[in-house]
Parts: sequence; structure tokens; C-alpha cells
Amino acid sequence: MTTWPTGAGHPAHSPHLRVDLRVLLLAGPEGDSTTTGWEEALRRTGTPYDLRRPTPETPLTDADLVHAADVRHGRYQAVVAGTDTSTFWDSLPALAAYRRRFGVRLLAAYEFPRAVAGLAEPVGTDTEGLTARVTAAGRAAFGYLRGEFTIGAGGFGYLTRVEDPALFTTYVETAEGNPLLGVVERDGLEDLLVLLDHDQWMLHGLLLAPGLLAWVTRGCHLGLTRYSFACHIDDVFLANTLARDGEFPEDGSAPTVRMSPADVEAVLAWQERHGFVLDLAYNGTGAGDGDPLTEVLLHHRGAFRWINHTWSHRHLGLVADPGATGGLRWVDAALLTEEIVRNREWARAAGIDVSPHVLVTGAHSGLDNPNLPTALRAAGISVIAADASHPSPGPALGPATTVPRHPTNVYTHVSSWPEQLADYNRQYAGEGVTAGTPEEFLAAETAIVLRHVLGNDPSPTFAHQSNLTGDRLALALVERVLQGCARLLGDSTPLRSPSMDAVAEELRRRRRWNAALADGVVEAVLHGGVLHLRTGVHLEVPLTAPAGSEVLGPGGGHRFGEDYAGAVSGWQPVPAGELLRIGLPVGAAA
Ligand SMILES: [Zn+2]
Repeated sequence: MTTWPTGAGHPAHSPHLRVDLRVLLLAGPEGDSTTTGWEEALRRTGTPYDLRRPTPETPLTDADLVHAADVRHGRYQAVVAGTDTSTFWDSLPALAAYRRRFGVRLLAAYEFPRAVAGLAEPVGTDTEGLTARVTAAGRAAFGYLRGEFTIGAGGFGYLTRVEDPALFTTYVETAEGNPLLGVVERDGLEDLLVLLDHDQWMLHGLLLAPGLLAWVTRGCHLGLTRYSFACHIDDVFLANTLARDGEFPEDGSAPTVRMSPADVEAVLAWQERHGFVLDLAYNGTGAGDGDPLTEVLLHHRGAFRWINHTWSHRHLGLVADPGATGGLRWVDAALLTEEIVRNREWARAAGIDVSPHVLVTGAHSGLDNPNLPTALRAAGISVIAADASHPSPGPALGPATTVPRHPTNVYTHVSSWPEQLADYNRQYAGEGVTAGTPEEFLAAETAIVLRHVLGNDPSPTFAHQSNLTGDRLALALVERVLQGCARLLGDSTPLRSPSMDAVAEELRRRRRWNAALADGVVEAVLHGGVLHLRTGVHLEVPLTAPAGSEVLGPGGGHRFGEDYAGAVSGWQPVPAGELLRIGLPVGAAA
């Protein structure tokens, strides 16, 4: 994805000019979904930007684009237009002059095809279900993709033809050869035109965003993307209650289901086949001597990652207490602590390697319990799970970083496809959503999970041990997610499966980074082919750069970052107040 086709003569490498690592996002006066999508994309990547809505009365001027104190210092390394560039007609002359001077590219994120760009009048606008493919020219920007993807529901775009191939170079096209996005070079300006509607809800928008951002920033920007997916299986060693026609009879006659040794063997074989490891959130109270499930899981304990799900899975929030005011009281800190510690001690005694400071409470209960922070401190917990579909309890609970986990529509109380589909259709009947077959259900559910994965969201997904029994619905879903990623992402872009510790660390870094950006303590300036980073506080800075970039110093003399998606990226520590320099490869091939 190296997009640094600049050479030493390019303004970006000029010793006389400097430019901030910051994106200018231009929006129409009303707001539009492409702009909103790009705000989302920049936020989830960690890339700083300014949103401007120029009007004929308030067009962009030099003062908006260049630092007043130093006319050789540009404020933006890249410009993204979230709506057709004709909207900013009155700002274009000042923008063009700035861009020529500082060598700044423009991403026209939703542009109407025009003859001036070498394109014909559009012949259609319905792109739903079309196959899009990256061209040979597009590999430089989109080499992190496998090369083909389908445009999903609601797809809208301008289907056109290239009239002047000397002017318009297609990067992505339909199977019929209609350009969907491509680059126009004219009058010393480089524009990438996207003719396809995209936002943060459309998978193709999520897929294309990192490549578009890399192109418009010439491969060097603050922020980074890692595709992550982990699946937690809760309630291991316990049994889950199955519903009867979506109901749980009051008399407790509903059947329960618990994994069998055969289920464990099937899961192990599945893990082996797919090179994927599940996280088991266990409750030690359900294990026992002579229990065949306990025996087989302990025998294969090293094949899984394990998470403390409390000893008994009891509710940890408000509980009935006839003696208390209102008949309710909070579970006290001593019992909370015992639930955590006892389960951890059990695992240790059983030889299970469980991260000592990670906790998922039963049904995410107790997060509102005022006694919880005390218990977390006493038990040494620093990472706690929350349900991503509920209002967030905040970034931290006492000493613990909150990690939101995504639920799925694979229900706790089902273990077979007929039960799953019947309940799903009951649940969504009012919204007109139905799934007649497992295939239809999996397609819809996989799209939801892929939206998290492709949206740079490190949060894990969770299901229950019941979903590893019967038709093993959780495996069917995870398999489809893995296949989806393999079909969409290229070999240089492996899917990561971070542990809860790693997710928490990623979320902490992102929060610190966003806070530092909001506080305005980050200085990132490109000057003479060298990135100069300075922060007011000790900070890890998320950065994506062309392959071959080097940390020059202080403490440098080594390659920057980790190879990912055809570039190098990573969290670069920058000591408070020090100037860290990163050298970008000069004239690297496009
Ligand atoms: Zn549970």
C-alpha cells in the first residue's frame, strides 16, 4: 500500500515546507452521510481532523489552510470532501493553490462523474449486489484487500465509463468495467474520485476506508487499523435453560443443556481446522470430580483461552432482602470478592492458565453495584466486561478498564437451528426481518459481526456454551466470520484474535490518545521527509507509515512499526516533551 510516489523533489520532502499530520474534512452546509461516515472512519482510526462547511459567504481562505505565524507551514496533509466538490465551488481556488504548494491530495469521497475528469455521463445508479474488483493500478492503494467484494444492500453509485484513460485511472471497477473509484491527475493536482456511495454502515465503505485514507495521506497518517475478532463462550461447566416456543415455563419444567465431551471434541477439531481459539468464560461451581465434561475440558485446557466468569454466576447487583429498605440491597463487597477469587483459585488448582485480572460477571451483572470497585480492587481485577448493546457503564469501573462485548442473535436458550430460527423470527417479526434458513440467518448475522471487525473495533463477540451443543450454532457463525474475512482481506492483512488483556490495553491506548488529541498536546509535523512527533505528556502515538520508515531518534536507528496491510503501523512511544523523528522512505515506488 506504499503510496509515496514522490521522490526527493516533491513538496512533502522539501526542506522549505512543513505540514501538519491532520486531515481537512469538507462537508456540505446540510451535512451528509458520506461526511458522517468519514468522521466515523477518522475517529475509529485515531486520525485527527477538522470538519469545515465552507459556504459562498464563508469560503476557505489561506488563513484556514496555512499557519499565520509561518506561511511555509501547512495545517493539513490531506483533504477529504464528504460531498461533491462542486458544493465548495467558492473555496476551490484557495484550496488548489494550497494543495499545489504543499503537494496535498484530495479524496472526493462522493463525486458525480464529469467530462473534466475523463468520465462519461452516468448510465445507472443501482450498484446493489454488483461485484467490485481492484484493478492492477488500484493494488498500490488497496493491496491489503483480497481484490474482490460485493456491494451490499442499499448500494447506490454512479455507473459510468472512462472516456479519457489518459486522465482517469481506475482503481476499483465493476465486473462489467464501470469505474467505481479512480485517480485524476491534472494541473499539478491529484484527486481520487469515489463514484460509489459509502458510509460507516456499509461493509464496502469500511473495507475501502483504510486504503482511501492511506492514498490521500500518501501512506503516512496518525492512527492505525487492525482487524480483530475474538469469540467468548460464556457459562462453561454450567447448563443453560432452553426456551419452549420462546417461553420459560414458571414451573421450571424447561429443559437445560450442557456441553458433552463429544461437543468438546467437535470444538477442538473445529478449532484445529480453522486455526482459531475460543475464549471460555467458565464458572468453577459447575465443574466436579468424575464429571466427564470437566475431565475432557481439563485434559484439553491448553487448547483454549480461559476467562473468569465468577464462581457461581450469581446475580451481583440488587438482591432481595426483606430486612432492607425497599426490600432490596446490593450484594456486598465480601461476596463479590469471593465470587471472583474462588473461581480463579479453582482454575489455578486445576492447572488452567487464566489471566488473573480479567473478569466477566454473570450476565454482566453488578456493574452498577457501588460495592464493585472495592471488590475489584481487593481481587486485583483490572479488566471487566460490559455488554456493548447496553448503555456503557463508562470507560472504567474502579480499577478496571471496561471492555464492551458484542452479543449476537445466537440465543443463549437455543441449541438447534429450528429453535434458533423460530425465536429469531418471533423476535424480529415487528421489524419485517425474517430468516427462513440457517444460511439467511448466518448471512445477516455475519454482516453484523463483520461491521465490527472491519470497523477497527477490537471488542470481542460472545455466545454461550449452549451454542456449542446440538447444531453448534456459535461455530457456524464464527466460521462464516472467518470465511468472510479471508474472502475480503489479503494475505498481508491477517485477522487478529486479541485476548481480553490485549483488548483492554488497546482501549486504554485509544482513550489516552483521544484525550491527548482533545487536549491539543500532540504535535506531528512532516518536514523534509521526516515526521517530527512531540507530545506534552508521555504518550503512545498510533501511526501508519510507508514500509521502510525508520525511527531516527532519540533512541532510534531501527525500523518503525509492524508490517500490516502493506504498510507499517503501530503505537509509537513518545517521551513527554521530547522530539521523536521518523524518517520516511524517499521516493518509494507507488
Ligand atoms: Zn454467563
